[in-house]
Amino acid sequence: MGDLTKNFNASEFGCKCGCGYCSPSFKLVSSLQELREEAGVAITIVSGCRCTQHNKNSGSTILGLAVNLKKGNPGDISASAHTRGEAADIRVGGLSKGKLYDLIVAMHKAKKLPWLKYVYKIKNSATNVHVGVDDFKKRATPYGGDG
Ligand SMILES: [Zn+2]
Ligand SMILES: [Zn+2]
Repeated sequence: MGDLTKNFNASEFGCKCGCGYCSPSFKLVSSLQELREEAGVAITIVSGCRCTQHNKNSGSTILGLAVNLKKGNPGDISASAHTRGEAADIRVGGLSKGKLYDLIVAMHKAKKLPWLKYVYKIKNSATNVHVGVDDFKKRATPYGGDG
């Protein structure tokens, strides 16, 4: 039993650098709960919220968005969906990233993940997929394929 949703605890989404930043969005955790129920097995949050410094170290920075500061991010206004608590890199036991990605796309097409804004398979990983609910970046399609 999680303290955020049926299966998730807030602590699973905290920044991995130890800064304490942990502000996952409702849309994100609700989407992952939907996915959890569809998959029927546990989802591991490989990386959820990231403070700006940790995000930089993770190799992903998009400039902008003071909303990060409002949400408690101890860093500056550099932003990615992770720094806003609106994305998570996940894996699901027993599934390759291709299978997991296909499952998410199929669920979105079936209107089961209404908040999903962007999903892609993470480079250099056999199992991890990025799921974002941020809509600050306009994209032609929510399906990024091989990211
Ligand atoms: Zn941090
Ligand atoms: Zn990501």
